[in-house]
Amino acid sequence: MQIKNVTVYGSGVLGAQIAYQAAYHNFSVIIYDLNEELLEKARKKFSGIGGRFIEDLNAPKDAVKAAYGRISYSTDVEEAVKDADLAIEAIPENVEIKKEFYTKLGKLAPEKTIFATNSSTLLPSQFANETGRPERFLALHFANEIWKQNTAEVMGHPGTDPQIFETVAQFAKDIGMVVIPVKKEQPGYVLNSLLVPLLNAGLFLYANEVADFQTVDKTWMVATGAPKGPFAIFDIVGLNTAYNITKANPDPKAQKAAVMLKERFIDKGKLGVATGEGFYNY
Ligand code: NAD
Repeated sequence: MQIKNVTVYGSGVLGAQIAYQAAYHNFSVIIYDLNEELLEKARKKFSGIGGRFIEDLNAPKDAVKAAYGRISYSTDVEEAVKDADLAIEAIPENVEIKKEFYTKLGKLAPEKTIFATNSSTLLPSQFANETGRPERFLALHFANEIWKQNTAEVMGHPGTDPQIFETVAQFAKDIGMVVIPVKKEQPGYVLNSLLVPLLNAGLFLYANEVADFQTVDKTWMVATGAPKGPFAIFDIVGLNTAYNITKANPDPKAQKAAVMLKERFIDKGKLGVATGEGFYNY
């Protein structure tokens, strides 16, 4: 089976990027969101993303413009999926919202449609039954700024048909992604299984006054040849996100780190690259 028509549910940060990426690579795309106002915002997001294609990738202006023309808009769940070969879900990271969504979509979509979730932290087996088509369901996980950080982690649950896995992996390749096949269900996929422990380890070394953050970054960079250390990565992720995740971790080391992050950074408005200052100045 070959994917031609793609529907993306959710026109937020990631949904808009996924829809545009697929359209740029010649797929016919429908973007769905709850109301017209959100779709109007999506239109503006597409124009911003197109700008980034030109700026970051040197994409030809006419190709960027042609991609806008391959995107249609819908606020009707059923209408949006009626011709879809692949429906990619990028709605909020909330189990109940996703379960309700899949229960509805499973009944409305044609039999041929493959469903893929872009969830960062939930596992496909958590919704497989709700889809009504567990063998045609899996995770397809993109990273923010998909045109540059172009990994696509493909991860099934135990009931995913291997042929469907291959079809989705091929689609990801066709839209310019580096495919990361994840052979078993794994919270955090490959990337966050590596990155989160690294970031935590750096944070604990600093919060416990074992080494200052510049030293932690320098050690990682010089010794491994990596271009950035954990604290430069924290600045990109955003310190609010780092603080929220750290605060939710009951480990006493994390609690100590959360207080440090709040007092030294969050309360002073130093939230990372987005505010011009975090651990470093930008
Ligand atoms: P977002 O909040 O920016 O966008 C979510 C969109 O879904 C909104 O436009 C909202 O109107 C729409 N929505 C809300 N309820 C809906 C429903 N019931 N049906 C259909 N649409 C609905 O979120 P996001 O950051 O784009 O994240 C979406 C998904 O992508 C999450 O599962 C998240 O884990 C994952 N993800 C996010 C990132 C990231 O960096 N933001 C990276 C990788 C994966």
